[in-house]
Amino acid sequence: MCPPAAARTLTLSVDAEVQCPYCGEWATIFVDPSGGAEQTYVEDCPVCCRPWLVHAHEEEPGGFAVGVARQDGGEA
Ligand SMILES: [Zn+2]
Repeated sequence: MCPPAAARTLTLSVDAEVQCPYCGEWATIFVDPSGGAEQTYVEDCPVCCRPWLVHAHEEEPGGFAVGVARQDGGEA
């Protein structure tokens, strides 16, 4: 699988690799930069369908640090 060759000049979403706190699988999630520099939202794991509490923090323009936690409040 090759990455797209096109230059990413106008990035409308930012992808990040995260590890599911429930099933341990790695998955790619997409952050919408227009949502702000600090975002928290819920997204379902594409593998096990359990809800992640996603926290995204913009560290540089277009560059987000993303973390996921269990929505049930557990400490992974
Ligand atoms: Zn999962």
